[in-house]
Amino acid sequence: MDVVSDFLKITQASETRISEIDMNNIPFGRVFSDHMLVAHCINGEWQQAEIKPYAPLNLTPANSALNYGQSVFEGMKAHKSPEGRPVLFRARENWLRINYSAHRMAMPPIPEEIFMEGIRELVKLDSNWLPNPDQGALYLRPLYFAADEYIGVKASDNYTFVVFTCPVGPYYSEPVNLLVNKDYIRAAIGGTGAAKAAGNYASAMLPDKMAKANGYHNVMWLDARHGEYVEECGTMNIFFVIDGEVVTPRLTGTILPGITRNSCIQLMEANGYKVTARQVSVYELQQAYREGKLEECFGTGTAATVSHVAKIGFGGEEWVLPAVSERKIGPWLYNALMDYRLGAVEDTFGWVELL
Ligand SMILES: *Cc1c(COP(=O)(O)O)cnc(C)c1O
Repeated sequence: MDVVSDFLKITQASETRISEIDMNNIPFGRVFSDHMLVAHCINGEWQQAEIKPYAPLNLTPANSALNYGQSVFEGMKAHKSPEGRPVLFRARENWLRINYSAHRMAMPPIPEEIFMEGIRELVKLDSNWLPNPDQGALYLRPLYFAADEYIGVKASDNYTFVVFTCPVGPYYSEPVNLLVNKDYIRAAIGGTGAAKAAGNYASAMLPDKMAKANGYHNVMWLDARHGEYVEECGTMNIFFVIDGEVVTPRLTGTILPGITRNSCIQLMEANGYKVTARQVSVYELQQAYREGKLEECFGTGTAATVSHVAKIGFGGEEWVLPAVSERKIGPWLYNALMDYRLGAVEDTFGWVELL
């Protein structure tokens, strides 16, 4: 066992399972790398974190996260730089966001050094699991949940923070089709939409299944109060290009503040595009489509970076957008952002950390 510091120790796996995976054909989210980070917070006191062999957790059925959903998570990726080093992208933003999510769920904050140093050491230790840039990336899943063995409905006294990782293939996402569903909402003002809280994803699964059964990939969510203003698509933020103007829904507390969304806005602005964050009505989109002014639509998120939208279904109509090959902004943005994520361009924004 290595003691890295007061807050972290490492117990290495005796063997690697790397031969279980074909890096040229990575199954999404099913094969996990050799190690995971585990840290416990007991009655408000963080214990020394440990990186140890990846293994199932031992949970009581009375675990309050399982029963009541006091659980939040993050999604991040490490890429391999051209020199072969692991690259983290804006990782501190994920730490800030998990603590925002934790706060909303009445959970204590995770110390910065446990999150940041834990992730750095974990990625370095499992760097043999990092696919080459053309093969994909290492997906990182920080997960933070209540650990009391108690079925009273109240905030837990004990918590567990885990980070596990899995290689993922290159996300050459095919353009996606989105279905506007007016019967279900993802988030309401005062709710938990801006937190990456487990329950948000559970409640979205039924409408997601319905969209898929109708030939769409994801739901395009509208706001809860008016049933009119676009919020997000699936688990991505959304952008439109309407008559040359880039617009994205303004963050109102019901939208997850995506790090990719923020990075895309900064990149576009730095390259001379004006981006307006404002309310976007589905009827405005309908009008723009009818006038031939709905030029582009794309989703943004860590998984796909930029995901082009091919078609939007709304109230029995199908809005077929211009072919991706005819689009200017989305395809450029995908490449521009990937260059940063891969550590392949000069990091003018200070987004990238080479391990
Ligand atoms: C994670 C997530 C996003 C994207 O956030 P990124 O930081 O860009 O990965 C957008 N919407 C929802 C609902 C999400 O859960």
